Amino acid sequence: MNAFVKEKIQKDFQERMDRDELENCMRCGFCLPACPTYIQSGYDETQSPRGRIALMKGIVDGEIEPDEDIEQTLNECLGCRACEPACPAGVNYGHLLEEARDIFNQNKKHSLPERVIRKTVFDGLFPHQSRMQNMTSLLGMYQRSGLQKVTRKIGFMKLFPETMATMERVLPDVQTRKEMRERPTYYENEKAPKATVAFFKGCLMDTMFMDINQMTIDLLQKVGCDIAVPDTQNCCGALHGHSGEKEKAKELAKENIKAFEKVSADFIITNAGGCGAFLYDYDHLLKEDSEWAERAKNFTAKIKDITAILVELDFHNTPLQLPEQVVTYQDSCHLRNVQKTFEEPRTLMRSIEGVQYEEMNQADRCCGSAGIYNIVHSELSMKHLDYKMEQVKDTAATTIVTTNPGCLLQMKLGIEREGLSDKMRAIHIVELLSEAVNYSEEKAGAYMATHEKVRYSI
Ligand code: SF4
Ligand code: SF4
Repeated sequence: MNAFVKEKIQKDFQERMDRDELENCMRCGFCLPACPTYIQSGYDETQSPRGRIALMKGIVDGEIEPDEDIEQTLNECLGCRACEPACPAGVNYGHLLEEARDIFNQNKKHSLPERVIRKTVFDGLFPHQSRMQNMTSLLGMYQRSGLQKVTRKIGFMKLFPETMATMERVLPDVQTRKEMRERPTYYENEKAPKATVAFFKGCLMDTMFMDINQMTIDLLQKVGCDIAVPDTQNCCGALHGHSGEKEKAKELAKENIKAFEKVSADFIITNAGGCGAFLYDYDHLLKEDSEWAERAKNFTAKIKDITAILVELDFHNTPLQLPEQVVTYQDSCHLRNVQKTFEEPRTLMRSIEGVQYEEMNQADRCCGSAGIYNIVHSELSMKHLDYKMEQVKDTAATTIVTTNPGCLLQMKLGIEREGLSDKMRAIHIVELLSEAVNYSEEKAGAYMATHEKVRYSI
């Protein structure tokens, strides 16, 4: 980083960072025990929220020169925002981090391969759902054609870093492109609806985890909702916002606000904690845009996680059953720390007969997935995951439930790394609830059939 770049970063910090927010930090350290990177680093202050805020403030005040070490410290933050609920001063660390990372990124001279990858991912892929469908359907073809079996047999994946090779083994079975494309945009309830909701489908959730999206819609129908799925919605922009591509994130936010304004819904439902939290932050993202600030506020006010709407509409009082099993829950950091939704998933799991719910120690501590953290900081991420798996094993759970696609893949990865895939599984909460609905209906059907047989034989 040369002197000119350092000077430019300093200037951008002085112009763009929220000084009030920085000054709100009174350096009390209450956030330290909540921070996984601080603990994992052996209590290194620069790996803590307080330390990172001090570095940001030091740059703004001209007391510290920005350099690669500070950039790395900021990049090694998981962005889990566990420091926020712990902070008595209400410092919004997530917003500070996002802005600081964006400044570093905007002033960075990326190498040519980096520029190509960033352009492909941020501009060419995620904001185009049809391209996401094409790409994931290639994965589906790879899985169905037998190529996957061949590559595994000949050990081809050993040529890749260990985490990537393990990740390949835990990817879900992907549907065909035709199945991804041919879906309704409105689901009407037969009875008068209890609520009209709009469903935010997400880019990964609607391709790689499409079946979970369908189960979400089925549950919403079951609980009495009419559901609109606006077809002009796009990626939420979280990946962009957290990777120093704030302008692109704003464009995507505007597209989504426009798409959801076209349907008149009581709530906008998400089933991915990470996406939901970013949608929930649109009002902050667009607060300085006079045309969009109010529209963003209205949009944000409607965001609700699937677990929250299900509890609100009394789903947890539906008598449901599952074969006996021990279940534990890994909080999605963003669902918990930003959307403040953590009781509802637990209420839903505990309501199922046959489920023995065991709270894991530090369920609210990040699993190390953190967007693309497990790819770009693989080694650090695996340390967080190994710690998490120790807590999981202590519960003796056979089912780990999550509420976010990144956490779901990370927990599957953890199970695979521990060699526990024949004893343990990781699923999304929507999958657990759908299993309970199907199992209970089948049991009721079997009971009715026996009952009918008895009645007719009398
Ligand atoms: S966001 Fe998470 S990792 Fe980053 S400083 Fe806060 S608690 Fe620590
Ligand atoms: S808890 Fe809040 S005020 Fe205290 S050091 Fe952490 S961020 Fe600063």
